[in-house]
Amino acid sequence: MYASTGVNLDRANFVVPEKMRAWILGDPGQLIWTEKAVPVPGRAEVLVRIDAVAICATDLDVIKSGPPALVRGGLPFNKNWTPGHEYMGTVAALGPGVDEFAIGDRVTVEIHAGCGQCKRCRMGMYTSCLNYGLNYGDMNKGHRANGFTTDGGFAEYAINNINTLIKIADTMTDEEATLVVTAGTSMYGLTELGGLVAGESVAVIGPGPIGLLGAAVAKALGASPVFLTGTRDARLETGKKLGADFIVNVMRENGVETVRRLNGGKGVDYVIECSGAPGAINAAALMCNRGGKICLAAFPHELDLIDVGHIVRNNIYLYGIRGEGRSATHRAEAFMREKRFDATLIHTHTFVLEDLPEALRYARDRVEDAIKVVVKMRRE
Ligand SMILES: [Zn+2]
Ligand SMILES: [Zn+2]
Repeated sequence: MYASTGVNLDRANFVVPEKMRAWILGDPGQLIWTEKAVPVPGRAEVLVRIDAVAICATDLDVIKSGPPALVRGGLPFNKNWTPGHEYMGTVAALGPGVDEFAIGDRVTVEIHAGCGQCKRCRMGMYTSCLNYGLNYGDMNKGHRANGFTTDGGFAEYAINNINTLIKIADTMTDEEATLVVTAGTSMYGLTELGGLVAGESVAVIGPGPIGLLGAAVAKALGASPVFLTGTRDARLETGKKLGADFIVNVMRENGVETVRRLNGGKGVDYVIECSGAPGAINAAALMCNRGGKICLAAFPHELDLIDVGHIVRNNIYLYGIRGEGRSATHRAEAFMREKRFDATLIHTHTFVLEDLPEALRYARDRVEDAIKVVVKMRRE
């Protein structure tokens, strides 16, 4: 029977099996559908029964080449390890001492728990934990980043630190709840790291999920005006529905010139770079006004040539963002609960967990203009 000392279960209403179905990563690009033991939550942890999980571009990177996943100090291949990080579900068991959640609570999750003892964690920057990946062996610092350093969501159950859980409203669907962490990442970049206040102008480069929800969050925070630039009309139109005041297709117009012209010739206060495209950082710097800020939210695969002189002469701030942080997901969930923007507009496709490889193909190749592909559990 599934159990362990100090773990709280609700056997009458919520049966937790001993084994679960799960995908594990074999060689690069190889996913294996297998069976694993259901993990047992420790102190400050709960067991989450996963109900839905969204696919992120970073999952595709991890499955194909490894980083930023770091499992037991190395690449994540052939370690019986499960990827997937944008999931939501139902609390199924409570670790010793946990009373912050109840069995049956619907929750969505953040990725990083951090170690809680390094300088950055103590500052609330647990996504930048200095002990990233140190959760094993003699130097176990207890760091957790589900789907990166610890087992993730392409399975029926996963362990989560209570600090990574966000309760969700009954009015929010499973699919929408998987998008909270994406919106939370944009929120963290704009508010906690960026210091955005209402009335400031924002340009978003790249209408991927983070860019689209970045435009939505910026608008909901009172940014004005909000620009969105990209190469695909359909995605730009979605961005307009989410709150972008102006959309610019850079295949037809010069993005930098158009953004500057429409904002009085001086450029914008913030640029969120979500494309990872060659030359995008220079474009961001040219869109920015003097003293403006650039948040880098994409993971480029190539080195890029940057006009550092322009950045220095114009007192431009440049900062990267690794993911959600400072509990920004809670604020993003509040916006979504209040219907300040409709995140479901970016959810385009749904598959069952068994069909994960096909779901990944849709996300990777943007089949049928896929934006966010969600995998759901098959249940009677
Ligand atoms: Zn992600
Ligand atoms: Zn830490």
